[in-house]
Formats: sequence, structure tokens, C-alpha cells
Amino acid sequence: MTAIAIELPEAVQVASDGIVAFAEQEVMPRHAKLADLFEDPTRLYDSAGRFSNELIAVITEVRMASAQAGFFSMCVPQALGGAGLGHLAYYVAWQALFHRCGPKNWLMLYALAHWAFGPSKLLEQISDRAKTEFLPDLISGKKSMCFGLTEPDAGSDASRLQTKAVADGQGWRVSGRKIWTTNAPIADYCVVFAKMEEGISAFMVPTDSEGFQIQRIIKLFGHIGGDEAEIALDNVYVEPWQLVGEIGKGFSAALYGVSLGRIYNSARSVGYGRWALEAAVEFSKIRNAFGQPIAEYQGITFPLADSAMDLHAAHLMGINAAMLLDAGEPAVKELSMTKAFSVQRGLTAVDRAIQTHGAMGFTNELGLTEAWQALRVVNVADGTNEILKKTIAQRLQKGDLSL
Ligand SMILES: Cc1cc2nc3c(=O)[nH]c(=O)nc-3n(C[C@H](O)[C@H](O)[C@H](O)COP(=O)(O)OP(=O)(O)OC[C@H]3O[C@@H](n4cnc5c(N)ncnc54)[C@H](O)[C@@H]3O)c2cc1C
Repeated sequence: MTAIAIELPEAVQVASDGIVAFAEQEVMPRHAKLADLFEDPTRLYDSAGRFSNELIAVITEVRMASAQAGFFSMCVPQALGGAGLGHLAYYVAWQALFHRCGPKNWLMLYALAHWAFGPSKLLEQISDRAKTEFLPDLISGKKSMCFGLTEPDAGSDASRLQTKAVADGQGWRVSGRKIWTTNAPIADYCVVFAKMEEGISAFMVPTDSEGFQIQRIIKLFGHIGGDEAEIALDNVYVEPWQLVGEIGKGFSAALYGVSLGRIYNSARSVGYGRWALEAAVEFSKIRNAFGQPIAEYQGITFPLADSAMDLHAAHLMGINAAMLLDAGEPAVKELSMTKAFSVQRGLTAVDRAIQTHGAMGFTNELGLTEAWQALRVVNVADGTNEILKKTIAQRLQKGDLSL
């Protein structure tokens, strides 16, 4: 059954079905087999809150297995060594993975090159030397990266970042602070955005460079460790071959990266929302109250109908925004609308599913609260709801009333 009249290109559908099958064969069984590891936070994190070596080994294994099976870099441009499937495949495959795997089988996060942790179209702008040095291990899934834009005093207004690159010989010395950099604690490279006289520039920086230090791991929602970090850069030496794009033009790379993040998070919201909605529908049929299944009460089923409407609309918006990106459009307004709508509707769908489950909705075993936490964060990451609405409103005021 399909609710969508838009016919996806065959390559996109095959890729999406293939990566879901990969997750069923390589991700979900690993969670089952390694349940002891995944249920023991003291084994998932080391004393500093970084992923443990045991977990890093499993993550690397999944990335590399997916690369070997031909899925990991399938949306990366062919010129970088990927299969070049583009933004629509990226949206569709992530949506399908989140929908199928839910929050419990979270190793799926490493099955497809994530826009910030893995190779992406962003790297089209790196030098030939950087391609030779960095790409093979990124494409094979052996190594990973992170995206260092946000700073302690520059979040929503990221263009006001304070990290500086000061000329020194043939290159520059980069100093400053980054915060909230996802995957930084375990990444091999970081795309660092820094201010120069010519404007903001971006550099590929190996995380073992002298002067690059993880200052602190940030812990969210009561976890004993985390995947976001604060980074200190102290006179880190970079050379021209490490530039991502041209000197002073790095902010366009930042905006493009954030666009990919918006597509990814829209897919995550729709996927988790659908997963939660399906769990709620099933539960409503088997849970009895007052002598009949709770599915007999419109107080239960109407909120689920609302979720179906919301998620259907969000899914169509996601497909549309990804198609616009593939057509070479910046789709700034459309991506902002899509991400803002999807994360709010996805979060609400999960919240309704929690309510449908009654007390069971709060238990660790179902994973609904994990989905809620994941989507609550997305109301802030990659553009807060307020900033997205600001962008939409500005476009409208400038005369872009196309809908
Ligand atoms: C889990 C997570 C992962 C992240 N990963 C990364 C990463 O990998 N790399 C990276 O560079 N960054 C990352 N970020 C940072 C993220 O992009 C920022 O948190 C986001 O841009 C918001 O910045 P801020 O948190 O400093 O909030 P602020 O900019 O300080 O905003 C605070 C509040 O003010 C509101 N606000 C600000 N300006 C306006 C306005 N003009 N009108 C109305 N309201 C306004 C905001 O919406 C928000 O509600 C991550 C964040 C999270 C939570």
C-alpha cells in the first residue's frame, strides 16, 4: 500500500529498500546480540563520558559493513567516490531507516553517511590533496568527521563566530572554541569554521592536530556520557590544501551543511513519528479498558488520525524539499518550512503515542521516551523553530509567496 502518488525513481526506491534490508540483517541483530552492552551505560561510555572503545568498534564495524554492501556512501557524489544518488535518496533512505528501526536500534545512525559525521556533497569543495588524504577512509567508513560551526557565543547567529584563523607562513593558526559539535569525541576530522579578514573560511582539521582538544563531553537528558562536545582550538596550524571551498567563502559551506541537516532531521521526525504511530495503533487494539479495546474510544483514535494527517503532510514536504535540492534550488523557505513542521509534528505524534500507551508509554523497554528525547532536541539543532520561522517570514516579506 502506498499513500504517495509521487513515483520515486527506481534507483531511490531500490537504495532505500536495500538499506532497510541491511539494517534488518546487520543492525537489528547486533542490538539483540549485544543487548548486555546496549543496556549498560557504564559499558557504553568511558569515565570522561566518551563512547567506550567497545562501542566505537561496533559503530566502525557497522559503517564499514554498510560501505562494503554499497550503502554507506550511496548519496555521496560520484566524484567523491560515492554512488551519487543525491538528496531525494538521502531523505527517503533516512526516513525509511528511522521508521523501520525506531529509537532502540540506533546503530542504524551509522549505516548511511550522515551529513556531519560522514562524507557528503559538502566535501566537493575540498582540494585534490585533501581528497587523496581524507576521502578513502571516510568513504570506506573506517573514519568519521564532525562539523564545528556553533560556538559558545554564536549559536543561531553563527555568522558572528569568533574562532580566528591568523596568517602564519604558508598557512594559518586557528584559535577559538566550538560547542555542541556532534560526533566530535570520536571523529577523526573536523570541518572548522573560522573568521579571517576575507570572511569566514572552512578547514578540514584532523582531530589529532596539535592544539585541537576535546574540552568537555556534553551530557543530555541524564545520560552518563554523550556524543556532543566542546572543542578548544589553540593555534592549530592549517594549510591552504585543508580549505573547504575558497578563502572567505566558507559560510556558504556552513549553510549547505545545515541544509543537509534539515533534510536529515525532517526524515528522522517523520520516521520516528510513523514508528510511534504504528506502535500506538497496535497497542490500542490490544489494551482493554471498561470492557473493550481502547481503540473503540474516539478519545484514543482521533489523536492518532491527527498524527496520520500531520506525518503524511510532513512526509510529502520532505520529499518535495529534497527534490528541489536535487533540481539545484537552494529551497531555503521550503526546507525551513519542512524542518519546522516535521519536527513539531513528529514530536507531537510521539507524545500522542506515549499517551495512548498510558503508563507503559514511559517505560524504557518501549523506546517511546527515547524517540521523544531525540525529536525534542531537533527543535533546536540545525536551526531552531524560531529561526526557521524567521527565515520563512523574511522570504514572505521579500515577496516569495510561492507555496
Ligand atoms: C543535540 C545537538 C547537536 C548539535 N550538533 C551540532 C553540530 O554538530 N555542529 C554545530 O556546529 N552545532 C551543533 N548544534 C548547535 C545548534 O546548531 C545550535 O544549538 C542552534 O543553532 C541554536 O543555537 P543556541 O543553542 O546557541 O541557541 P541561541 O541562538 O542562543 O538561541 C536561544 C533561544 O533564542 C531563540 N532565538 C534566537 N534568535 C532569535 C530570533 N531572532 N527570534 C526569535 N527567537 C530567537 C532561539 O530560537 C532559542 O530558542 C547542536 C545542537 C544540539 C542541541
